[in-house]
Amino acid sequence: FCRVTQNTNMMSYVRQLRQAATLDFLTGLANRRHTLEVGEALYAKARNNQLRIAVAMVDADHFKSINDRFGHLVGDEALKAMATARQSWCETGVLGRYGGEEFLGLIAIRIELEIEAVFEQARAAVAAIELMADGQRVPLTVSIGFTTELGNSLLQMIERADSAVYQAKSEGRNRVVRQ
Ligand code: GH3
Ligand code: MG
Ligand code: MG
Repeated sequence: FCRVTQNTNMMSYVRQLRQAATLDFLTGLANRRHTLEVGEALYAKARNNQLRIAVAMVDADHFKSINDRFGHLVGDEALKAMATARQSWCETGVLGRYGGEEFLGLIAIRIELEIEAVFEQARAAVAAIELMADGQRVPLTVSIGFTTELGNSLLQMIERADSAVYQAKSEGRNRVVRQ
């Protein structure tokens, strides 16, 4: 009994360690390092023509003013709610927390025609989140920039997605831009 208990404890510690090393503590999404690891593997497959991928940067809109208006704890709740919204769009890849209020999505494309719609669905899912604080609805939206151009590296795809986010911001936020 003692040995079995020791072994199951050990397995549980290993699982906890693995989770701590790969997951973001607040949202439960993949952390930045793990996202990039998965991303490099997907990129390599895409380079070998085994699949097609899209890389998306998802940046919460006016998040600083959400913190200022409702407090940091509500801001944290908002980030968690956004992470939950991924269920409606990110089943064929990984969505990770890339930075504070920025998420990186790496999607294996099934049908090229649908890819824009996938991100549009993600945008709409966030805009539909009903998070209440101080008797008011917290206005949550994201700007999404994405690319399917493989370029020379995963990093280059991320840079392109980032530049698409900037465009989405300058065009009014709460929108999807492809570059
Ligand atoms: P924009 O629409 O241009 O992206 O505006 P923004 O306010 O979202 O962008 P900015 O980069 O100015 O601010 C990001 C804010 O996100 C500031 C920072 O306090 C907040 N933030 C980052 N990480 C966290 C977090 O873990 N929790 C909370 N509550 N806020 C966070
Ligand atoms: Mg940002
Ligand atoms: Mg932002």
